[in-house]
Amino acid sequence: MNLVSFSIKTKGAHNFTRRLRTVFTRFGFSDAQIRYGLHSILDALRQFDGAPTFFIPAVVLGRHPALILEIACDGAEIGVHGFVHNDYRTLSRDQQYRQTQKAISVFQQISIPYYGFRNPYLGWTKESLEVYAALGFRYESNIAVLHHVVDLNAFSPLLRSGFAKSLKLFQAVPCSVYRLRPQFEGEILRIPTSIPDDEMLFDRLRITDPIEVGQIWSQVMQRVYDRGALYTLNLHPERGVLCRRALDTLLAHARSRELPVWVARIGDIAQWWKERSLFRFMFTALDAGHWRVEATLNARATILARHLSIEGHSIAPWYGADERVPSHDFIVNASTCPCIALSEQTPGEVMDFLHEQGYPVMRCSSDDAGRYALYLDRPASLGETPEKRLESQIALVEQIEALEQPLLRFGCWPDGNRAALCISGDIDSITVQDFFLRIVEVFRHK
Ligand SMILES: [Zn+2]
Repeated sequence: MNLVSFSIKTKGAHNFTRRLRTVFTRFGFSDAQIRYGLHSILDALRQFDGAPTFFIPAVVLGRHPALILEIACDGAEIGVHGFVHNDYRTLSRDQQYRQTQKAISVFQQISIPYYGFRNPYLGWTKESLEVYAALGFRYESNIAVLHHVVDLNAFSPLLRSGFAKSLKLFQAVPCSVYRLRPQFEGEILRIPTSIPDDEMLFDRLRITDPIEVGQIWSQVMQRVYDRGALYTLNLHPERGVLCRRALDTLLAHARSRELPVWVARIGDIAQWWKERSLFRFMFTALDAGHWRVEATLNARATILARHLSIEGHSIAPWYGADERVPSHDFIVNASTCPCIALSEQTPGEVMDFLHEQGYPVMRCSSDDAGRYALYLDRPASLGETPEKRLESQIALVEQIEALEQPLLRFGCWPDGNRAALCISGDIDSITVQDFFLRIVEVFRHK
């Protein structure tokens, strides 16, 4: 299937004709317009000591190495967006492997470091995850978490159906605290994105006011902030000017929150999540109601506590019932041990999962179950199928986050940040020529 028929299938004939009209206004025959759009995003983030992550098909990188090296030197992270801009769901595992390998060789020839992969159309498959892990990627960024922040009833059936097509194309999943956190799946770290993105709002729903788009993204930011999670926004640099004003609105919202929001590149999030997954608490019982706690961590870790006091330290209010602990070696005074207990029969997989989520875990017998913040007896682990496991993981994180017992844990983000924000963009094409070459390239790589 070529780009024309693919686009008509996924976007609808009506939207596709409209998109064709916009090609010549959004792209030029030189790279000037996209260069402006890319620098506009870099400039917006620089004010927040942040930088964006851009994903690019290797053939497009191969045609414009100087521009991509220029933005990489300015701090942008560059990730792989396929060899050509095709849908991996139409490829076998072997084809995915070979095309990803070809993409890597282009990045290597141009000496652009790469850590992450995002599929065109977010079209990941189970096989893709194996391919990324086998080829040494640190992370992928494909899970699309949907936030209900737009009243779709206010739009015509035609526009609503375009929006619904995007949801299907992106394999959108419902929002939950766990879904908005990075997740290890074997060797590969999955870093979720949040939708609606720029294309869904500007092109599908035809919301033309960038301030309004910025306000919608600010609502997503607020939902993520309330959950202490990660917001990865995806935008396309060809909407540079429109995106800039929307982006400024979003960044201003993030900056005006009571607690800081970490503006980071996706690769920085991946690095941090890996470091954090190794943090541990160790508890030593002292006299009744007292525990010595020693934490293994790095200097950027955020230790959070609820419903307990720390001897010799006043702990600072943080968010909701959580307070921030200023030490990594301290004595806790609490009614129960501020830790999650697992029965002896519960497999180690559950313990690994809880550690990755930043929770303290120890083993205990059922006789002592009442002495901990939560006791879990899960001999069947998290479930047998991937769907069951995901369901258990979502429910477990919700349950622990809502606990009204004394509890210690590692905050998701470094340096006391409440939430994290990544601005990412897919550089699908840089010039009009690139846009039309996609048709030929995708056809050749079926
Ligand atoms: Zn793309």
